[in-house]
Amino acid sequence: MKRGTTFLLVIFLVSSLQAGEAFAKRIYVTIGAGSVTGVYFPTAGAMAKIVNKKRKEHGIRATVESTGGSTYNVNSMSLGELDMGLVQSDVGYRAYNGVGDFKGRKVGKLRSVLSLHAEPFHIVANEKIKTFADLKGKRVNIGNPGSGQRSSAEALFTVTPFGLGDIVVEGLKASEAPDFMADGRIDAYFYTVGVGSANIMDVATSHKINIIAVDDDVVAKLKEGRPYYVSAEIPGGIYPNVDKPVKTFAVKATLLTTTDVPDDVVYNLVKTLFEDLDTFKKTHPVLNNLTPAKMLEGLSAPFHPGAEKYYRERGWVK
Ligand code: GLU
Repeated sequence: MKRGTTFLLVIFLVSSLQAGEAFAKRIYVTIGAGSVTGVYFPTAGAMAKIVNKKRKEHGIRATVESTGGSTYNVNSMSLGELDMGLVQSDVGYRAYNGVGDFKGRKVGKLRSVLSLHAEPFHIVANEKIKTFADLKGKRVNIGNPGSGQRSSAEALFTVTPFGLGDIVVEGLKASEAPDFMADGRIDAYFYTVGVGSANIMDVATSHKINIIAVDDDVVAKLKEGRPYYVSAEIPGGIYPNVDKPVKTFAVKATLLTTTDVPDDVVYNLVKTLFEDLDTFKKTHPVLNNLTPAKMLEGLSAPFHPGAEKYYRERGWVK
């Protein structure tokens, strides 16, 4: 009996010692994504899954939070409430440089990890709306404060023939917009998102929608002095009833972090992800064509030293 108790005590001590050791090595990394109906959320989820598979080796435990979008993610990283976040390249640029909607509140500690898919600016409208000019006087969801589309829309409407004051502005979350459109409570909504997002697929499947083009001359003006905007086309045949390509502009989805996050954490995270890039690419159609070269382009802030160390080792950065 006595011997049994001693034996149990030893087992208990050994296992709690081991648990303590594992606990000491556990590093939590919270990644801010976007709405669950967008592309950031499944993409960040796939990233976390790949990183967590190797958690016994590097100790990192990545978790994903659904958030209000790019601007929310930057603000939360700035406050230290998120360690990493998916952020549109235009929002990242404005935040890092303290311009536009970040004027007077520059987030100088932002650092780039990598970039992902292109995010064309989608204008999803009911079938009566056919052109950008038709949006005048209509009820349009430009996105919740904190969303990337709201920030892009504010930039866009500085170069359009009519301003945001000429539309009835709504500030709904991306996840709410499709239902509001289906019920006729809004006429259109903006969403800067990877092509084929569930949000737009769903409403396009159940309702007849149009995706509205942004005119070439407007895109040309938008690109002046804003190197992070590129001309883009939403291919035809992706969304039901949208058979022809639609011209618009696009940004890139980027993974950002801050100088608060230690170098070895970022190093281990990118290493694990790039070593399993094929798995990652298969998780969403927008990621299928990623290459390491493309994933190091289109960034708005300097590389985080941990990421840069890995890219140098691989010879991707000289
Ligand atoms: N680009 C959007 C934003 O920053 C999010 C898109 C997504 O969730 O895929 O707000």
